Amino acid sequence: MNAEQIIKYLKEYQGDEVNIMEVCGTHTASIFKSGIRSLLSPKIRLISGPGCPVCVTPAAYIDRCIEYALKENHVLCTFGDMMKVPGEKGSLAQAKGDGAKVELMYSPLEILEKAAANPNITYVIAAVGFETTAPAYALVMEEAISRGLQNIRIITALKTVMPALTWICENEKGIEGFLCPGHVSVIIGSQSYGELAETYHKPFVVTGFEPEYILAAIYDVVRQLEARSDGKTVHNLYSNAVKPEGNQKAQTLIEKYFEPGAAVWRGLGPIEDSGLYIKEEYQRFDGGSRGLDRDIELPESCRCGDVIVGRINPNECPMFGSGCHPVSPYGPCMVSSEGACGIWYRNR
Ligand code: SF4
Repeated sequence: MNAEQIIKYLKEYQGDEVNIMEVCGTHTASIFKSGIRSLLSPKIRLISGPGCPVCVTPAAYIDRCIEYALKENHVLCTFGDMMKVPGEKGSLAQAKGDGAKVELMYSPLEILEKAAANPNITYVIAAVGFETTAPAYALVMEEAISRGLQNIRIITALKTVMPALTWICENEKGIEGFLCPGHVSVIIGSQSYGELAETYHKPFVVTGFEPEYILAAIYDVVRQLEARSDGKTVHNLYSNAVKPEGNQKAQTLIEKYFEPGAAVWRGLGPIEDSGLYIKEEYQRFDGGSRGLDRDIELPESCRCGDVIVGRINPNECPMFGSGCHPVSPYGPCMVSSEGACGIWYRNR
């Protein structure tokens, strides 16, 4: 089928209602930018999943980062999208405004040069992300060891996608198929989803970020569901970037420096083995990442927890666009460029 035929099929689809989760925030952004939702029959519902690492980071983590930024001879280094995430004691942006030492980074590797140039300053890196970014933090440790740098710490809120997908399959029965996260799939490989597809009889389709790839993946999921057999499976439509076995070099780096442990996903609560923590033998790098995994209440009236698993669309939250917008976010899903509420707001 060519793109035109796929669009016609999806627009005119009259079968059973289907709910498809796009797990990754980059897919959500692309879906909105390209207007894909307007090309689908009302019977095909796309749900934005928990694929924005910033949105699922607990407030206690932000508070720990602020503590470091206020500490003498310490600098907290973070990506820009963490700056406005609300902790219990405010955001990093507010803390910086009050004089805390917060520096933006574009890559964790740039901290190596800073640490080498300023041995009396301890650089604390806020490591937030999925399997995609974890190898970069592992590389920071590897390089710091080889250069003998003693003044780097990492606070991890790194998470792995598979335990969260298992949680969703187990608890959110209404989601019938998945568009797998593209960048994460590059690291973990398409075969990672095989067990879930088999256990829960749901299609998992790996796809790229261009609209035509996403449409092809939606079509694939719908067709698999229409087939009504138990043989739902994994299809990889992004095979130029995603191998069945993934990136084994990156996996080895992750396994060398990190071990799995329970982590809290804002809105979902604690999920066993869904976090990555620095291993015992590299503890000297750890800025105190454990113990932040208590469940944190969202701000009153914020429905991020429901948005993340698709129980509501962002515009159904009473705060959407009134008390909560990208300039002044009330909840975490409005903060990041990959957060569902922010994407909906910017493309409303
Ligand atoms: Fe939370 Fe704002 Fe989204 Fe509502 S619109 S769920 S308050 S982030």
